[in-house]
Amino acid sequence: LSQLFRPLDLLGMVYRTIRQGVIDMAAMFDLVDTKASIVDEPGAPALRVGAGHVRFDGVRFGYDPDRAILKGIDLDVPAGTTLAVVGPSGAGKSTLARLLYRFYDVDEGAITIDGQDIAAVTQASLREAIGIVPQDTVLFNDTIGYNIAYGRADADQAQVERAAQGAAIAGFIERQPDGYATRVGERGLKLSGGEKQRVAIARTLLKDPPILILDEATSALDSRTEGEILATLNEIERGRTTIVIAHRLSTIVHADQIVVLDGGVAAERGTHAELLRRGGLYAQMWARQAQERDEALAAE
Ligand code: ATP
Repeated sequence: LSQLFRPLDLLGMVYRTIRQGVIDMAAMFDLVDTKASIVDEPGAPALRVGAGHVRFDGVRFGYDPDRAILKGIDLDVPAGTTLAVVGPSGAGKSTLARLLYRFYDVDEGAITIDGQDIAAVTQASLREAIGIVPQDTVLFNDTIGYNIAYGRADADQAQVERAAQGAAIAGFIERQPDGYATRVGERGLKLSGGEKQRVAIARTLLKDPPILILDEATSALDSRTEGEILATLNEIERGRTTIVIAHRLSTIVHADQIVVLDGGVAAERGTHAELLRRGGLYAQMWARQAQERDEALAAE
């Protein structure tokens, strides 16, 4: 019988997820693959977020019990600071973000926010506290204003416009014939990857979460677009505890700390300058990307 209920469970979860305004997660977290077994403990309290101090203590996790992806990760992200996570493809960078959002429970260790174990509080309150700018933003076939306000049905026009300004997309919207009422998506205006990301940034500004996860797009942007996006990302990071999953190291030079994940452990950690001096994996990745950047610039 339980076999029969699993699809229903999953549907319920997808529905709740959409209701909570986190449909964007579908792309990042691959909802359909997610176990439907994460449930609130009976009587779980809401997370009480203070300044937003995030810690991972001895976190072990594997999608498959026989294959650990993270083998004892300690992270300490003081409130309001930025941690960048880098490492080879498949190292488990996105997995860290999925665990913080509690799409999965850790196998060992704990993740805490302001001293509270995220497994012991309600998922709704946890997800309320965390904003995510995903790699690929899903837009609805609706107006651009609706897309920015998505998940914040109570936002008024002035708030939507302020968020659009913060995300450096207000000018673009105002130039459209119908302004904020311009339809986007399959049957409307097609937005570029960078414009879509700005819609996600505007949404996040409107949500105003104390904790932020930025999942940087893997696809290369031209250097001008990258520079513009960086400026707006810096804007939303200010005053929030931020975890950046970075593919391009040039975007995280100023992070308060950088962790290099490799083989399931934090192989290196430090600031950009410290890691370059160390001459290890990070320094090698930096040298390789600097060369690729020079080649791309020469070709532009
Ligand atoms: P990239 O830089 O390529 O995005 P990443 O460091 O973010 O990689 P993850 O997406 O965290 O890596 O994946 C880490 C490992 O876990 C990979 O080996 C991947 O195949 C595996 N994995 C990811 N998602 C799942 C899943 N839903 N089920 C089973 N294994 C998974």
